[in-house]
Amino acid sequence: MDIFSKIAAGEIPSYKCAESEKFYAFLDINPVAKGHTLVIPRREVDYIFDMDDEEIAEYQVFAKKVAMALKKAFPCRKVAQVVLGLEVPHAHIHLIPMNSEADVDFRKDKLKFTEDEFNQIAEAIRNNL
Ligand code: AMP
Repeated sequence: MDIFSKIAAGEIPSYKCAESEKFYAFLDINPVAKGHTLVIPRREVDYIFDMDDEEIAEYQVFAKKVAMALKKAFPCRKVAQVVLGLEVPHAHIHLIPMNSEADVDFRKDKLKFTEDEFNQIAEAIRNNL
C-alpha cells in the first residue's frame, strides 16, 4: 500500500476532515495556507486523469463538499483546487483557502502548526460539512 492508502485506511495517522466509502480528506502536513486539505480516492491510482469518467465525477463532487466546508470554516475569497502529484504517487486534490495568489505558492516556506492546532483546524472543517 502507498502512504496515502495507509492514511485512508487509518494505518498512518492523519488529521481527518471528511470521508466516504470511496474518498478521504485530511490536512496537508506542510500547509501553504491554514486549512490546506488533501482529497484522495481510497483506490490506488496515481494519475488523476487515469480515473474513468464516473469515478472522477464522484471524486470532484466529494471534493466540492469539502471545499464548501472549508470556505465556511475559513472564510476566504475562493477555495483553490490544485493537482500536482509530483511527490506522492497517489491521486490527490489540494484544496487551499485563498485570498491572493500568494496563498497558493508552493515554493514559499510552509506554515507550522502544533498538533492541537491541526486538530482544531480539521475539527472546524468537519463541523461545517
Ligand atoms: P504533490 O505530490 O506534489 O502534490 O505533494 C504532496 C503533498 O502531500 C505535499 O503537499 C505534502 O506536504 C503532502 N503530504 C505528504 N505526506 C503527507 C502526510 N503523511 N500527511 C499529510 N500530508 C502529506
